[in-house]
Amino acid sequence: MVKIALQIKATMENVEELKTSGPEFRWYLKFTCNNCGEVSEKWNYVSLSKSTPAQRGNAVNHFASKCKLCSRENSMTILEDSIKSFVANDQSKFQTIVIFDCRGLEPCDFSAREGWIAKIVNDGKEFTDVDLSEGEWADYCDKIKEPVGIYEIEHRFERVK
Ligand SMILES: [Zn+2]
Repeated sequence: MVKIALQIKATMENVEELKTSGPEFRWYLKFTCNNCGEVSEKWNYVSLSKSTPAQRGNAVNHFASKCKLCSRENSMTILEDSIKSFVANDQSKFQTIVIFDCRGLEPCDFSAREGWIAKIVNDGKEFTDVDLSEGEWADYCDKIKEPVGIYEIEHRFERVK
């Protein structure tokens, strides 16, 4: 088993905290099969709300698929306790927002898309329908009377020991 952290970095304008919207949130990923190196062409999503029992023990899978090329059964679990907000204080650094427990595959690409929550600084609004599909988001907070936004989102995957 390999644990892979998804880390993001973004420029946040008057946004204190960026987080995912809960168990329904969909992480859109592409995977590489560790056995044969096949990379999935399509985006797959994994979500805490969509799980199947794993073959062994009382674990669950949030993604399971048979590799098209080598037919190996691969699977992955979202580690629920690892889900964290991206915070403005440290926005110049990559921060881990989720860790995946991977069996036979590894995520190789991530697409942010919809379902994010942005908490605005100085007790501003909480935007609950932030869409990062275009790689950025901009709005106006009428509580703090300032523009707000999230720009230049980058991501990377890191192995966790
Ligand atoms: Zn394969």
